[in-house]
Amino acid sequence: MRTHTLTQLQRIFFGLALAFITLINNNCTNRSTSGESDLDIVILNGRVIDPESGLDAVRNIGISEGKIHKLTTKVISGKTMIDATGLVVSPGFIDIHQHGQDAENYRYKVMDGVTTVLELEMGTSDVDRWYSERESKAIINHGVSVGHVPLRIDLMDDPGGFAPLADAAYREATVEEIEHLKQAIEHGLDRGGIGVGFGLMYTPAASHWEILEMFRAAAKYNAPCYVHIRYAGLKEPNSCIAALGEVITASAVSGAPLHVVHVTSIGFSQTPMMLQMIAEAKLRGLDVTVECYPYPATQTLIESAIYDGDWRGSWGIDYSDLQWIETGERLTERTFNEYRKRGGMVIAHSIPEEIVKSTISNPDVIIASDGMLSEGKGHPRGVGSFARLLGKYVREEKIISLNEGIKKITLMPAQRLEKIAPVFKNKGRICVGADADITIFDSERIIDQATYEEPALYSRGIHYVLVNGVVVVKEGVLVENVYPGKGVRGEVRE
Ligand SMILES: [Zn+2]
Repeated sequence: MRTHTLTQLQRIFFGLALAFITLINNNCTNRSTSGESDLDIVILNGRVIDPESGLDAVRNIGISEGKIHKLTTKVISGKTMIDATGLVVSPGFIDIHQHGQDAENYRYKVMDGVTTVLELEMGTSDVDRWYSERESKAIINHGVSVGHVPLRIDLMDDPGGFAPLADAAYREATVEEIEHLKQAIEHGLDRGGIGVGFGLMYTPAASHWEILEMFRAAAKYNAPCYVHIRYAGLKEPNSCIAALGEVITASAVSGAPLHVVHVTSIGFSQTPMMLQMIAEAKLRGLDVTVECYPYPATQTLIESAIYDGDWRGSWGIDYSDLQWIETGERLTERTFNEYRKRGGMVIAHSIPEEIVKSTISNPDVIIASDGMLSEGKGHPRGVGSFARLLGKYVREEKIISLNEGIKKITLMPAQRLEKIAPVFKNKGRICVGADADITIFDSERIIDQATYEEPALYSRGIHYVLVNGVVVVKEGVLVENVYPGKGVRGEVRE
């Protein structure tokens, strides 16, 4: 009897100990510790914010071999010491929507506090080539999806680049072509593509059945579908509500997770209705996420299918709301038609500021940039999205708290991606075992400087950025000739 009682007590003790270990190990994998003398970098006295555990306190961090090895109140030392007194130490920001994927864009991203940039909406037709082109040449972690748009461009021999201009936009696919696209998506996922990208507004001839077939291919891998949906704006029958209905249906029918990109530049004043539909779909058990960028203006190619038809009526804007990126001028009917023939990037001031604010404050919404800069020209979102969120919307306008703001650009994107790419279980968090992707900033001074007229201006208030334990921004200045960025991909199966 007595022996039995002891055994039970022992069981309870070991059970509790195991539960505690499980609790503290939650989600951060590859844990290990090393002696203090081995530490490569130590970050002292920073206000460490970890959105997963809720930690918001002064701590010291020890880093070695690209990982966080210590998180402690004790004084520790290492080969390089960073004094973060008075500064916030955050997980490095993860940009789940970034088109510009070259050295120029990467510089602006790290200066905005970003440590991982992902091209998921458009993606690529060749996952292996995309990663190999960037191997050992990137300052920042990078990743890509396999993309329905580039696959259609390749298959139909379309002359377009970023967006299709001929058959890939305007010709219906045959049964054989749909089968080919399906297999190509599966091949891209076998090669570690992080989900499947869609730009349905750029491919108006892609039928609802074609899209459903692509979702079915994604579902075999439980791969998220990142979608720029088919219609924007208010006008029925081709409204944003109908377009969102299409992809929620495709997700429900196929079982593939759904991520709706840049919701405010699709929904405009109807964004709250879209967010309501997404929340309700989640309540019914669907895996749906959503993102927006923190600006009241869009950007895309003026010659693309997006500017076909009655965009003025659908979006509730006029020619004068368009701004030509090359010169900064506002357009007229005449210049619109002229530039549409010539081609190039145009900004549309089309999103009400109250909608930007209410969308940022929605707890379901991830913040991403949709950034793309070319020779210093482009929408400022590619340069300043993250500093703008934390400076303008957190500090100045108090739309959300600092901790909520950090969560939207670290933990939430990591959680969206960790099923398709388990490497994200070690990102977006500050804990022992996490990748040492870390952003150290002054929460009283962080702000974007990029404007529509002059986008190529680095954000302010970012003091240090570490990518895989390598300092890439030091005392607010970009470090040259370091390439610690890794290609982040899903499981490679063949
Ligand atoms: Zn888009």
